Amino acid sequence: MEPFVLKNQSYLTIESWTKQFPGLSAGITTKRGGESKGSFETLNLGFHVGDEKSSVCLNREKVAELLEFPLNCWVGAEQTHDIAVKKITKADRGKGSNSYEHSFKGTDGFYTNEEGILLTLCFADCVPLFFIAPEKKMIGVAHAGWKGTVGKIANEMIQAWGREGIKPEEIIVAIGPSICEKCYLVDERIINLVENTLVDKGRLPYNLIEEGQYSLDLRELNRQILLEAEVPNQNILSTGFCSSCNQEEFFSHRRDQGGTGRMLSFIGWKEITDRL
Ligand SMILES: [Zn+2]
Repeated sequence: MEPFVLKNQSYLTIESWTKQFPGLSAGITTKRGGESKGSFETLNLGFHVGDEKSSVCLNREKVAELLEFPLNCWVGAEQTHDIAVKKITKADRGKGSNSYEHSFKGTDGFYTNEEGILLTLCFADCVPLFFIAPEKKMIGVAHAGWKGTVGKIANEMIQAWGREGIKPEEIIVAIGPSICEKCYLVDERIINLVENTLVDKGRLPYNLIEEGQYSLDLRELNRQILLEAEVPNQNILSTGFCSSCNQEEFFSHRRDQGGTGRMLSFIGWKEITDRL
């Protein structure tokens, strides 16, 4: 069953998680329902892609309202296709929420066990990985393009949580909307790096299309890396949504040849407020 379900034109949630874990907000935005113009039409949430900053801020305010998660509780990152993951506390709230300059430098993953923080990262084809260890209230999100994937950012998160006393079997992971195997053609250089990453945990995640050209299944490769990190197979959910195939729904860096907006992957516990 598809784990990501469209809630309205502007975002999808991980349905089974939000039903099962009260107070959790987790999902990814679409490209619809925003204010941006031209190649950023309409719900661009990335500051760094050349869009008007005022439009991006307006779009972010809209999403904050839809999710009922105030913008000053968000954190954002200057993502660099590396594998650094960072633990976030309430003291960090607001960093990167309304400007790129104040976002976390060189960070491609966030995690926290505190309420009232929305962890956000930007996407247009790269694989969003969502993590939850319900017993420990730990949640996280990571950005895995081909570099982050072969660098094993998925494993990086599992190891960081291990240092928090969380075992891999306690962790559930959702692999989110991203570029599919058919749409993602790469050259020999990348396949050589994939080869070094392979752990023999299932089918080969790539196919030869023609001499020097391969199609690569980044979601499957991430799944195998998670299995290697001892996350049980039944704890890994994976989407069928492709950012490139679904032109109406998503921005795609590949399909739109670089000139495009960004969706936002998000996960956070809403603050339980006393209503006395
Ligand atoms: Zn596709």
